[in-house]
Parts: sequence; structure tokens; C-alpha cells
Amino acid sequence: MLNDVFSKNIYEKIGRIHSLQTMGLVDGPGVRFVAFLQGCPLRCEYCHNPDTHDFAGGKVYSVKDLLKRINRYRVYFGKFGGVTFSGGEPLGQAEFLLAAIRACQQEGIHTALDTSGFVFDYFGEKVIAEVDLLILDFKFTNTEDYQNKVGCSMAVPLNALSIREKVAKPVWLRQVIVPGQHDNAENIGHLRKIIEKFSCIEKVELLPFRKLCLAKYENMGKAFPLIEQPEASSELIDQLTGELDFESVRGKK
Ligand code: SF4
Repeated sequence: MLNDVFSKNIYEKIGRIHSLQTMGLVDGPGVRFVAFLQGCPLRCEYCHNPDTHDFAGGKVYSVKDLLKRINRYRVYFGKFGGVTFSGGEPLGQAEFLLAAIRACQQEGIHTALDTSGFVFDYFGEKVIAEVDLLILDFKFTNTEDYQNKVGCSMAVPLNALSIREKVAKPVWLRQVIVPGQHDNAENIGHLRKIIEKFSCIEKVELLPFRKLCLAKYENMGKAFPLIEQPEASSELIDQLTGELDFESVRGKK
């Protein structure tokens, strides 16, 4: 019943959006319209979007307004592109997000969600199950670092994976590689075990830690927690990607 009532009003749902990117090439397949939703309850040490944290910031959009903007760029999506919802943590506005995803899908637009998996409520679980592609940021592979450096439990991304496994929909796993924190055999071994366990994972992207966000922190008068940390080189990412060897975990080699 809740579902039926919800479906009738999806274009009127209101949410707060930090910014829109019209021709994104890195957040999912093909050319993508990226909506960065405002607000995040987590505090990852390496966060490069501190300006998205405040739930009261950003600009108010209805799903109708957002779809109007998206449709202007639809011609560029081609066969594989579509819309990616990112943040902040987009699940922090799960009711609006579910409405936006359903509206896109009704109009034949592919949807992806870039998320930590955090914030589980009725709408959040629906979002995880219904979005076409889940891009899941697996920030660490041990409970201690999750608690100390992210601010949530590792059960959060594992729950998201369980939901996707049940509905048999694809997941791209992502991890930002911070030298000294993620470039060790234990982490890579844990990632391999996670890939083994969840057949819904169809791709893994290891991303280099960078400090391009320093100006944002300075403008906000905030200290960047990893200011002294060296960036990750592309050689390190290639090496770890080789060690992870996704294809061999999937038995395709
Ligand atoms: S979940 Fe994303 S937006 Fe939130 S603190 Fe972590 S990196 Fe930043």
C-alpha cells in the first residue's frame, strides 16, 4: 500500500542537491549525468567532498525539476550512459532518491548509485534493491578501520551486497587506496574473499588517493586529516590491481 501511494507522487518529491555534472565519464558506464546529493552522516578521513556534508546545504529540487534537467542531456547518453546519483551520501535522502530513480527508470534512463551503503531505512533498502547499478565504496576491509576512520560498521556495505546478491543485480566495488592504509596483502586478500562470496560484483575499481580537495578544506577553514599523507601513484594502483586479479577470483583465467 505504501508502495502504491509513493509511486503516484514521485515527481513531487523534494530533495537537496549539492551540484550537477552534465557529462561525467568516471561514475559508471558511458556518458553520465551526475547528481551530487547534499548531506553525509559519515566522516571518512580522506573525504574530498567536505562541502557536501551539511544536510541543510545545497539547492532544493523536485524530482520533476531534476528530470527536466536530465532530459536535456539524454541525447549524449548513447547506449550505455545514464544518470548517476552520488554525494555526499545519497542514501541520506533515500525517499527522494528512490523517487528520482523510479522516475528515471520509468523514462527508460539507466540509473547508478555511488554510495557507502550507509543509512538504512525502508526507502534506502528499496533504493539498493532497485537501482540498475550499485557502485559501492568499500572503504576498508576490517571493522576497526571502519569504526575509527569512517564512523560506521563494516556491516553497512556487507548488507548492501547481501541485498544485491538476493536481487541478482550488478555491483561495482570501489576502494580508494591510501598508501600505508590499503596497500597491503591483508586488504587485497580480504577484497578477494568478498568478490568470491558475492557473485553480484562484476567489477572492482581501485582509485588513487589524491589531495585535490585541499583548496576546499582551506576555503571552509577546516583541516584536512590526511594532509601529511603521500598520494597514491598510478604504478601502485596497477600493482594492486594485478595482485587482486579479479578475473582469476571469478575463475575466468
Ligand atoms: S561517505 Fe563520501 S561524502 Fe561522506 S564522508 Fe565519506 S567520502 Fe565524504
